[in-house]
Amino acid sequence: MKLRIGQGIDVHRLEKGLPLFVGGIQIESEIGAVGHSDADVLLHAICDALLGAANLRDIGYHFSDTDPKFKGIDSKILLAEVFKLIQEKGYGVNNVDSTVILESPKLNPHIPAMQKEIASILHIDEDAISIKATTHEKVDSFGNSEAIKAYASCLLIK
Ligand code: MG
Repeated sequence: MKLRIGQGIDVHRLEKGLPLFVGGIQIESEIGAVGHSDADVLLHAICDALLGAANLRDIGYHFSDTDPKFKGIDSKILLAEVFKLIQEKGYGVNNVDSTVILESPKLNPHIPAMQKEIASILHIDEDAISIKATTHEKVDSFGNSEAIKAYASCLLIK
């Protein structure tokens, strides 16, 4: 048995009037994330954790943010592509742990729906997908709702 650990971090700017996607679902919010894709910060962090664990570079290497092909793309498609890449290297996902930093709205009520989406893409049990949500205590750009950030760690198994 071979185990590989990985970590990923992502940040997106927030602006009024844009949709907010986190963990594969749309969250009702007056502010949304700015990005070339659907700007799902949590899925991007998880993509990078998986790619890192398999030593397959990073999300920007595989899905360029200047390629019109990926404009507005659902990040669930990117995560599914990343899963394919790690599978090609012989790995499966043991578990994911993650944290999203967002001042508001509260993400906690949406976490079970996010776990379900991510677990189905990665072909593992929902119990293997941990998502924590925290605010930034109104401190600096995250606390002022100017940006959203996510951290993810994962363990791959062969
Ligand atoms: Mg991103």
